[in-house]
Amino acid sequence: MFFQVILTTSCNSECRYCYGEALEDMDDDSADLDVDYDLPRKINYSADQLARLCKQDPYCVLTFYGGEPLLCLEEMKQIMDKTKPQFFMLQTNGLLLDRLEPDYVNRFHTILVSVDGDEMLTDFYRGPGTFRKVIRNLRLITDNGFRGELIARMTVMENTDIYKQVKWLLENQEFPFSSVHWQLNAGFWKTDYVRRGFEKWSREDYNIGVRKLAELWVDKMENDAVVLRLYPFLGIAESLVSGEKEAFLRCGGGWINYAIQTDGQIIPCPTMWGMKAHYVGHVTAANPLKLVKEFVSEPCTDCANLKSCGGRCLYANVMKRWGAQAYDQVCDTVRNLVNAVASQMPRIDNLMKKGRINFRDFEYVRFNGCEIIP
Ligand code: SF4
Ligand code: SF4
Repeated sequence: MFFQVILTTSCNSECRYCYGEALEDMDDDSADLDVDYDLPRKINYSADQLARLCKQDPYCVLTFYGGEPLLCLEEMKQIMDKTKPQFFMLQTNGLLLDRLEPDYVNRFHTILVSVDGDEMLTDFYRGPGTFRKVIRNLRLITDNGFRGELIARMTVMENTDIYKQVKWLLENQEFPFSSVHWQLNAGFWKTDYVRRGFEKWSREDYNIGVRKLAELWVDKMENDAVVLRLYPFLGIAESLVSGEKEAFLRCGGGWINYAIQTDGQIIPCPTMWGMKAHYVGHVTAANPLKLVKEFVSEPCTDCANLKSCGGRCLYANVMKRWGAQAYDQVCDTVRNLVNAVASQMPRIDNLMKKGRINFRDFEYVRFNGCEIIP
């Protein structure tokens, strides 16, 4: 099992799509839900209690999550000293990476760091100076010996030219990334849809950019025999290459990937914090191998694309905050993504037949925080 350990609800950033939306999104559609808004700021259970949970599963993976998890350095180190998961991972905004000693940083199997693209775009979404500070810290941890996977985790919305920004992350001279994942800011808030231009942007810009990017991805395989770790493509291509038909959420939310709130309650996904109806156990008592599973409902259960998509997002499916029409516009981006990869499969098959690339190039650690379907 994978657990995202929410060390704190606090964050040291004020990003547009998170803090900014929280200020503007005043329409409370959760009145019918029993939500605990009073979660402790930091974890109030012990590292020993988490170790007990983890010990029951030989394949347990722990990912530190927040808020910003690096605000809780002592708690993080205690957990790293006392628990013995298969891997530790970290999802961070990167601003405080210089504060954690290399002995600990170098133990992470994977670090997902929030970078939205080049300096101008990252700072537009995340605040002035963010990009420089994060890149400085990434250089520092690699100089100090971090050799795990470093994934640029982009949040994507209307100011993003997906083709240009992903290409930049891969090819820039400042800090080229070899792994990139992106997630659409879509369906997480209530009133933002009417304020934004999602439909036009996704149709006229994003979807076209994704198709161009899929071509570039395979060009790189042809020219350099390299399968770039662009996670949305990698996950779908791996399923197509192996003939596997996904029917479950590809992020793992609610069936293999859970989050642990600061008060120790276990939930299907970090975005479902406080939603009491979805609590599946407590860190002090739960058996990780017997947690209740939760799956998406309609419209995903009636969708012809469920096998390739997996349902995209449990939270979006449960809340349906954007309404049916806009939900389908997001699904259009999923169909486009799957088709973009599928249309490249003859080229990929050909390269595999020639031995230029092979099946193993598409393998990755599943549920590592990359949701695959943005
Ligand atoms: S394409 Fe849309 S409706 Fe279909 S499974 Fe994915 S999220 Fe659900
Ligand atoms: S895709 Fe949705 S359900 Fe999955 S981890 Fe992200 S927010 Fe949670």
